[in-house]
Amino acid sequence: MNKNTGLVWLKEDFRLKRNNALADATKNHNNVVVFYLYKPHKFKLQEAQRWWVSKSLEEFKKKLNNFNINLEIIQTDSYKSFFDKLFYRKDFSIYWNRTYEPNYLKFDNYLSENFKKNRIEFYILKGNILNEFHEVKKNDGTPFKVFTPFWRTAEKFYQEKIPSKVKKIIKCKRKINFFKNTIDFNKINPEKKWFKKFENFWSPSEESAIKELKKFTSSKIMNYSNARNFPNIAGTSKLSPFIKHGQIHVETIWEECVKYKRNGSNKFLAEIGWREFNHSLINFFPHMLKGNYSRKFDKFPWERNKDFLIAWKNGLTGYPIVDAGMRELYSTGWMHNRVRMIVGSFLVKHLLINWSEGEKFFKNCLLDYNEANNVSGWQWVAGSGADAAPYFRIFNPILQGEKFDKEGNYVKKWLPELSNVPKKFIHKPWELKDESILKLDKDYPSPIVSHEKARAKALNAFKKI
Ligand SMILES: Cc1cc2nc3c(=O)[nH]c(=O)nc-3n(C[C@H](O)[C@H](O)[C@H](O)COP(=O)(O)OP(=O)(O)OC[C@H]3O[C@@H](n4cnc5c(N)ncnc54)[C@H](O)[C@@H]3O)c2cc1C
Repeated sequence: MNKNTGLVWLKEDFRLKRNNALADATKNHNNVVVFYLYKPHKFKLQEAQRWWVSKSLEEFKKKLNNFNINLEIIQTDSYKSFFDKLFYRKDFSIYWNRTYEPNYLKFDNYLSENFKKNRIEFYILKGNILNEFHEVKKNDGTPFKVFTPFWRTAEKFYQEKIPSKVKKIIKCKRKINFFKNTIDFNKINPEKKWFKKFENFWSPSEESAIKELKKFTSSKIMNYSNARNFPNIAGTSKLSPFIKHGQIHVETIWEECVKYKRNGSNKFLAEIGWREFNHSLINFFPHMLKGNYSRKFDKFPWERNKDFLIAWKNGLTGYPIVDAGMRELYSTGWMHNRVRMIVGSFLVKHLLINWSEGEKFFKNCLLDYNEANNVSGWQWVAGSGADAAPYFRIFNPILQGEKFDKEGNYVKKWLPELSNVPKKFIHKPWELKDESILKLDKDYPSPIVSHEKARAKALNAFKKI
């Protein structure tokens, strides 16, 4: 047993089960302190996540109390300056779980060098991922660029390696403080009307994540392959924010699915596989975090139309399935995957606005925002990604609505102003022409662009590259 305090740097691991850093620290030290670095600047661009993180901190602090572990929150402008001061203290060993964004991995190298130099014991452990991103590669050692062969190889690899054994968290002898000038979690969650709404939809805790997983794998999973396409059916797991913030480890999800081998498990695990694939992509091809994966899109003639962008963000494009998606996002901090594809395609192809604008907006509004999935998701939609939808496949928002929200219930849920519109017109209300039901441009806008014209224009623009 090491006499030093075991420090655990908490990044996105708000869980006890399969938290390698926490388990190892409690095994090796009598006293453990978990600390979270709150960087206000980061949350300026990820506003919705402030709510999730502050709730998670509040909840996790209580949980850690039961193990005599203090959770200390420290506000800082830069991780580097925080650690540069910490190197001077020698009364600790430090543990953290890896997060798989290139910036964090680069920073891990900086920390490793300096902890070594200062003779401070440090341990970087496997984070919330099935494979370390570099473990699954082609036979010739190069990274996969296409999902299907990646997944074929990865699945085999996982079957041998996971689930790994769950390490226990050991109760510490006594609770201690380590840092001065800590702050309260409330400071991260200022009263904001927007955040209040999330409380109606989410309860950020490890228990909720496990409950949602069990609920999903005990029944919904069997119909997942089909139901996952229909936004009005709660056919997906809605685990994404819990995965993002580490309330559940993906190995736990894998274990649960493999245990029951229900219909739908394979399809569901393949979606988890997309997350793995995306993490691998951004690390092998980090240029895609700053621009197009496919360089030919650098020449794409994007347009800068502020009014269109505002209409899109506010769910006022005049295309109900697009607007419903954007309102769902704003109200709940989440959007159904099918609708993410539809609203994304609309922004990029109908409005010819650079996908990076959509990426920024999603980053700010999504509770499940993660760099790998968001950048890859947007480039999939735009056609500029590694294994992307071809640019010339342009979603027709009317047909998408009629196919995946046949009764219009999803649209009516998020656009109450269309609640009396008959099914026949629900995805093209401009054709209704009955002012006693809907006053177009007063109750709801007419389409900001015509689908046919926008489609032709997009295909033309594509020809230029
Ligand atoms: C434009 C765009 C942006 C996106 N941005 C994000 C993002 O920031 N964060 C995020 O987690 N997902 C993102 N996705 C992927 C996907 O939409 C969400 O993961 C999914 O909707 C989450 O809901 P769920 O948990 O019910 O998914 P389920 O269908 O239940 O899937 C289970 C899990 O698998 C993973 N997953 C599912 N679909 C995908 C996918 N297409 N790509 C990668 N992983 C997937 C997620 O971790 C998800 O929680 C984006 C997709 C698009 C098209």
